[in-house]
Amino acid sequence: MRSRSIPGSSGHPRPLRLLGDPALAAACRDVTDFDAGLATLVEDMFATMYAAQGVGLAANQVGVPLRVFVYDCPDDDDRRRLGHLVNPRLVEADGVLVRGPEGCLSVPGIEAGTPRYDHAVVEGFSVTGEPRTVSGTGFFARCLQHECDHLEGGLYLDHLTGLRRRRALRAASRAPWAGRDRATGS
Ligand SMILES: [Zn+2]
Repeated sequence: MRSRSIPGSSGHPRPLRLLGDPALAAACRDVTDFDAGLATLVEDMFATMYAAQGVGLAANQVGVPLRVFVYDCPDDDDRRRLGHLVNPRLVEADGVLVRGPEGCLSVPGIEAGTPRYDHAVVEGFSVTGEPRTVSGTGFFARCLQHECDHLEGGLYLDHLTGLRRRRALRAASRAPWAGRDRATGS
C-alpha cells in the first residue's frame, strides 16, 4: 500500500526526449491494454516528471507513443492537482485566452508567453480503465492543454507567433542540450 500512496515512488526516471526528437512530433496512439506495463509506464512517468521538477509529462516525452499523461500542478486557487489520464480527449477549452509563461521539460530552460484558454475539460481513463473527467482553470487548464498537445505531436512553441516564436526557437538552438546539427546553424 505504501508504494501506491506516493505516485512515482516505485518508478524509475526515463531519459527525456528533447526538441528535435521525432518522438515529440508524431501523434500518439490509444492505449488498448490496461495492464501491468501501463501501470509501470505511469509510475516511471511520475518519477521522470518529479526528477525533472516538472508539473506535467506526456508519454512521448519519454519516447513511448501512447496517449498517456501525468500531472502534479497547482490550479488558480493554489489547489494541488495530482493525477494521470489514459486516452485523454480535450473536450472543452474555453473562457478567456490568457497569455502566460509556459515551458516544457522537452525544451529545458526556455519559457515563453503562450496563449491558452483559462478553462479546460479532459475526458479519459485511469490506469485501471475507469472513466475519468478532469477539469481545470488557470495554470492547470494550461497544463491540460499543453499535455494534450504533446499527444497530438505538438509543442507549446506551435502556439507562438512572430517575434516570440523566433526568440524561443533561437534560444532553443543555442541551448546547451541542443544537438550539434542545430548548434552549428547560423
Ligand atoms: Zn511539455
